[in-house]
Amino acid sequence: MNIPFVDLKSQYQSIKGEIDGAIANVIADTAFISGKCAKTFEEDYSSYSGLDHVIACANGTDSLEILLQAMGIGPGDEVLVPALTWISTSEAVGSLGAKAIFVDINEYFTIDASQIEAKITDRTKAIIPVHIYGQPADMKRIMDIAKKHKLKVLEDCAQAHGAELDGIRIANFGDCGSFSFYPGKNLGAYGDSGGMVTNDADIAARARMIANHGQLEKHNHIMEGRNSRMDGIQAAILSVKLKYIELWTERRRANARYYDSILNNIESIEIPKCIEDGWHVYHLYVIRCKDRDGLKEHLEGNGISTGIHYPHPLPAMKCYEDRNLGRNDFPKSYAACDEILSIPMYPELEKGQMDYVADKINEYYQ
Ligand SMILES: *Cc1c(COP(=O)(O)O)cnc(C)c1O
Repeated sequence: MNIPFVDLKSQYQSIKGEIDGAIANVIADTAFISGKCAKTFEEDYSSYSGLDHVIACANGTDSLEILLQAMGIGPGDEVLVPALTWISTSEAVGSLGAKAIFVDINEYFTIDASQIEAKITDRTKAIIPVHIYGQPADMKRIMDIAKKHKLKVLEDCAQAHGAELDGIRIANFGDCGSFSFYPGKNLGAYGDSGGMVTNDADIAARARMIANHGQLEKHNHIMEGRNSRMDGIQAAILSVKLKYIELWTERRRANARYYDSILNNIESIEIPKCIEDGWHVYHLYVIRCKDRDGLKEHLEGNGISTGIHYPHPLPAMKCYEDRNLGRNDFPKSYAACDEILSIPMYPELEKGQMDYVADKINEYYQ
C-alpha cells in the first residue's frame, strides 16, 4: 500500500468544480494582485479567526517579518523564539537586524515558558511562541511574562489554523498573529501566501502599509515598504477552502484519535501529548520513537511516507554557529530531534491506511 504524507490531489478532486470556477472568475476579472478577492478573503478570515484585522500577504515568512517591523522591532533588539521550529520564525527576526534568542521546548514541543525569563535582557522586545504541529503554546504563562516585562507577543500560527486554548482561537492572545497558507498547511493555497491578523488597529495599519510599498493610498508613500501582496487566484482558492476547514479539522482530529487508539500500546513509541484545555488541529501527527531512523526506513520501504519536523534544532544550524550553542543549551530540543517522526496525517486519510501504518510500526519493533 502506498500512503503519501499529505494528499492534496484527493482534496482538490473533492472540490474541483468550485476551485476551477473561482480561478476562472479571477482571470475573467483580471483581478490578479490583491484586489477584490483578497479583500473578500480578508473578511472571511477575519470572521473565522475572530480578529478585527486581517492583511493578506505573499507568504508566512513575510508575514512574521512585517508584523515584527510593524511593532517597531529593529536592529539591536532581541526576540525570544523556540529552538525547535521552522527557520522562518528566527529568520524573520534576523532579517530586521534584530537577534533571535533561542529558548528550549517543553514536552509538548512548544516554547518552555519556565525558561523564558532567564533569557530576558534589557534588549528583549518580543516573544514569538509557535503553535507547533497544530497545538497551542502555553499562552497564559507567556502572556503573564510578556505583561510583566512589557514585551510584545507575535503568535506564529503557521501550523495551527483554528487551534484553540480554553475555547479561545489562537492569535487572540498576543499582540498579533501570523499565518502561512503554503499548500501543505491546514489551510493551504495553490502557491505561496500568508496572512497577518491582529485586533490592534495601529499594528494593522502599519503592516498593511509595509506590505504595499509604504502606501495607504496609491502614490502616497509614507515610508519605504516592500512588495508582499496576495495573488487574487490564491485568495479566491483560499475563500473556497475556508468553507471546508472546520470539516477538515474535525477529520484530522478524528484521525488523530484513531491513531492514538491503535498506537497507544506500542511500547517503543510515544503518541503526541496534548495540553489540557487545548484544541489541537494536528497539522502534523508526531510520534517519538526508539531507533527513529530505522523505523523511518522500514516505513518508507513499505510505501509509507514520513517526515521529520525537524531533524535539527535551529541553534545547531550553520547560520547560527557563531553563537556556539549546543546540546547542553537545549537538551529537550536536541532529544526531540533524535526521536520525532511525523507519520501521514490529513483529512482524507482512511482507517485502513492508518491500520496499515500501525501494522508496519508493530512489525518493525517485533
Ligand atoms: C510554514 C511556516 C512558516 C512560514 O511560512 P511560508 O508561507 O512558507 O513562508 C513560518 N513558521 C512556521 C512555524 C511554519 O511552519
